[in-house]
Amino acid sequence: MAGFGRDPYRDVKRQLRQEVGFGCPVADCGNPYLTWHHFDPPWRVEHHHRPEGMIALCLQHAAQADNRAFTDEQLRDLKSRGRAASVEGRFNWMRQEVLTRVGGNFYFRTPVIFQLGTVPCIWLSSDEQGSLLLNFRMPTVSGRPRASITDNFWSVPTDVEELICPPMGRLIEVRYSNGDRFKAEFAEVPDAAALRAKYPRSRIGAWSEGLPYPLTVAEVWETAAGTNIEFGPNDSEIGSLVIRDCFSSDCGAGIHVDVDEGQLAALFPEAPPAS
Ligand SMILES: [Zn+2]
Repeated sequence: MAGFGRDPYRDVKRQLRQEVGFGCPVADCGNPYLTWHHFDPPWRVEHHHRPEGMIALCLQHAAQADNRAFTDEQLRDLKSRGRAASVEGRFNWMRQEVLTRVGGNFYFRTPVIFQLGTVPCIWLSSDEQGSLLLNFRMPTVSGRPRASITDNFWSVPTDVEELICPPMGRLIEVRYSNGDRFKAEFAEVPDAAALRAKYPRSRIGAWSEGLPYPLTVAEVWETAAGTNIEFGPNDSEIGSLVIRDCFSSDCGAGIHVDVDEGQLAALFPEAPPAS
């Protein structure tokens, strides 16, 4: 059938992810980088996207399933297994230089991009080889634990509405039922023209010509529902302040919002990281 690809519709993928608790359900696996396996009937027999005949598996176990390692009964059983309390994964993007784009603004050689009071929320650390690693803490008024990234390793408690992390390993997107949202994505751009093409709605100035290419861009979006903090695709909104199209280089802190200890404790239900 023309136009009917092997990749399922968005709502089918969401259902398949949710029923396995956002991790591969094969015993001792739990890999969060999921793909879509058609088993009843197999794709070669019929091109369909009926979720009851499909299951979310990691690439390795999907390949085994394609070769009949699992019976249909076993796959149906795996679809109804309990979910893990959290899933973990890792960004393997490690570069000496990273251009960070947060809430429509660019930061270069600026280790702390966003800090609330004494708590860094979006920042870069570096390992022994000098590679830059992404870190993220998510303020929330929900009182519930939230997704976090520590030195490129991410962890997501699975009481989420949606967790998207394709096997290419360059993005995760997390959505919560209270409206909290978070997305982190890595990409490489070969030159300044490609950077401008990637962000056609941004005014990217002459600064872009002087950066070391090819350059990795790490982009973070965040909405903390019920607060006045929003880092959207095109601008940053902190209270009544709107910031967009800025380029900051060699800064101590990109955006530092002062809040008192009581507010901090309410926004980070788990112990915040030491600053
Ligand atoms: Zn697996």
